Amino acid sequence: MAALEVARWLGPAPFPPSAVDRHKARTPQIPIAGGTFPAPSGIWGTFYYMDIAVGTNVKVDLHAHTRYSRDSTLMPREFVARARGAGLDRIAVTDHNTIDGAQEASAIDPSLIIVGEEIDTRERTHLIGLFLHQAIPRGLRVREVAGRIREQGGVVYAPHPFAYPWAAERHALEAMSVADVVEVFNARAFLPIWNRRAFSAARSMGLPVAAGSDSHFAHEIGAAWTELPAFGSADEFRRSVASAAPVGLRTQTPFIHCVSLAVQMGKAFAGVVSPKRQVTDRDGRQSPLAEAGQ
Ligand SMILES: [Zn+2]
Ligand SMILES: [Zn+2]
Repeated sequence: MAALEVARWLGPAPFPPSAVDRHKARTPQIPIAGGTFPAPSGIWGTFYYMDIAVGTNVKVDLHAHTRYSRDSTLMPREFVARARGAGLDRIAVTDHNTIDGAQEASAIDPSLIIVGEEIDTRERTHLIGLFLHQAIPRGLRVREVAGRIREQGGVVYAPHPFAYPWAAERHALEAMSVADVVEVFNARAFLPIWNRRAFSAARSMGLPVAAGSDSHFAHEIGAAWTELPAFGSADEFRRSVASAAPVGLRTQTPFIHCVSLAVQMGKAFAGVVSPKRQVTDRDGRQSPLAEAGQ
């Protein structure tokens, strides 16, 4: 029994590679949450390949960080270049407790960037707001955070609902009870059971599913994404995401979290501050007095 349990924890994640690579594959496979299926033939195959040719589906990463996060060093300009290089049509910048990086990236490439924020709630559950105009402060209750996201027309996204070192069930329940979309593949959730539990919980609750890279460094961009019908506004996204297919190409090594922690400690030690929180003195010099960035 113990061996079975270990196998269940370490077994493969639910979303094998496919999607974009299907163009090249000899036998195309369609990624559908929970597995892959051969591309349809006949009349349905015609529609399927027309869809690829016309490009009505877009490739979107809904969870990514820049140096405006406490544990990332990625400049928004490099972030944008890497995301375009990875073939993404859209990517959400979801820095911890700020939208400054998302707004900076959006100014560089507005058609690529979705302005988002990953918020630390009072319950210590992470919640992401997508399509935001105003930052939401950390430390509010989950329900209030969800309310503030919706007040500004945003979408509530539950990131890595089970990937917490403890109280995973509680965190998942809190986030999923208010979520519009559930992240069922997070490329940094290194224990496959975390993503599998998210997928089965989302499916049992009838919630739309998505995948995100949760990238903090350049090489992580493109590790996971979501394919869904093209959208512009938040309302269009809400409709499109109902038929989204999460695609997880690779899970990062667990040691990536050690690197993030080292960056976080290094930035704290060096007194690095969030760029927009830097204070400029009368002579135009930047003061190091501003609070440490999150
Ligand atoms: Zn998180
Ligand atoms: Zn994150």
